Amino acid sequence: MSEAIPSSDVVVVGGGLSGLLCALYLARAGIEVTVLDADPLAFGPQANNASLASLGLVQLGTAEHPHRLAHALGMERAKQYLAFSQRSIALLAEEVPMERGGLRVGIGAEIDELEQAVALSQDLGVPSSLWSQERVAEHLGCQLLGPARHVPMDARLDPAEALSILTEKARAAGARLMEGQRVRSVELDNSITLHSDGGQVRCELVVYAASWGLRTLDHWFADKVFPVRAALLETAPSGRPALQGASAQYGYLSWQSAPSGGLRVSGARWATPHMETGEVERTPHPKVQKALQGFLDKSFAADAQAGVVAVRAGIQGYTCDNLPLIGPLPGARRVACTGFADTGWSLAAAGAQIVAQGILGEQPVYPDFLKPQRLVGI
Ligand SMILES: Cc1cc2nc3c(=O)[nH]c(=O)nc-3n(C[C@H](O)[C@H](O)[C@H](O)COP(=O)(O)OP(=O)(O)OC[C@H]3O[C@@H](n4cnc5c(N)ncnc54)[C@H](O)[C@@H]3O)c2cc1C
Repeated sequence: MSEAIPSSDVVVVGGGLSGLLCALYLARAGIEVTVLDADPLAFGPQANNASLASLGLVQLGTAEHPHRLAHALGMERAKQYLAFSQRSIALLAEEVPMERGGLRVGIGAEIDELEQAVALSQDLGVPSSLWSQERVAEHLGCQLLGPARHVPMDARLDPAEALSILTEKARAAGARLMEGQRVRSVELDNSITLHSDGGQVRCELVVYAASWGLRTLDHWFADKVFPVRAALLETAPSGRPALQGASAQYGYLSWQSAPSGGLRVSGARWATPHMETGEVERTPHPKVQKALQGFLDKSFAADAQAGVVAVRAGIQGYTCDNLPLIGPLPGARRVACTGFADTGWSLAAAGAQIVAQGILGEQPVYPDFLKPQRLVGI
């Protein structure tokens, strides 16, 4: 195979949100960096990645309530996780426009957990306040929803706009962005050789930011990262003012205003028995689509009447323990920045910054439970 691609200090595999941010930080620090993405239209409005398909909520921590995070990780780690997410949102806000404030609405049994969540959010240093059902209904102009936690540190953005800004910034900083370059294999020798559709490229270090695509590219990921499909519906404009971004059902339903003035609704993976795990086709499951349409019909009737104008799905990369993988892989010269599941917009910037700092020889301080070593007991 010919050497069609010039060699580079660092090659980033994957040009979604996390790959672009890694490239941006590295190029700004003067590192020669090339991004290879499999998609022929990777950096445009037709890209196939989850980043472009996403809703664009920038939710502090996880979409679930903080007591659930504390229950899963323990109080100390939950604090570290939230601080990491807070730092990531602040970093992203330096690069792209976003609107602050978000609602975590309670539906059904979840309502009883809201007060506990508000109290714990103070202890965890990420305050939120309770909004009554009437206030939620008035703000959202909706029916049938419950009270909510208002999280001032949450935000929302337009993924297409944000990705286009990050692409331009990465290019302007000197990163080489190459599309239609699916990396087929990675050879580790004295230097690293990546074999892609356009030829081969040598580098000193590879950053893996290819989400679930990594499971077939490097065996290390085979049992650690897996695909999960998520879907989104967008309505025509209904004349409503822009909303704060919001989620409900512990994050399994979320929505926000579209730039067009319509409403975007995402989630409802629970409509399939396997929660869309393992699905790689970018077509929404009919049951998920029906559940999203049903939610629109019940809660946002005016928007539903305006009609659905776009339906799409994207494939997210989850890890086996549901936490991102950030930093060097065992064996060195391969660095991970991936596994952001359904909260990439609030985690990827800090992940990318840590990756860049590590490559620059700094010693970034971040939670051990985000490091790849955790999964192999090192
Ligand atoms: C419908 C939907 C709604 C969502 N809503 C939100 C939300 O509101 N808030 C939030 O924070 N997150 C949300 N997410 C999740 C979010 O999109 C992801 O966390 C984030 O986009 C992950 O970014 P990434 O760069 O890791 O992956 P991706 O954006 O998927 O990028 C990975 C890239 O790697 C490339 N690639 C794969 N394999 C190879 C290979 N072998 N060689 C070269 N390139 C390769 C792909 O082409 C792709 O461009 C949503 C996702 C979906 C689908």
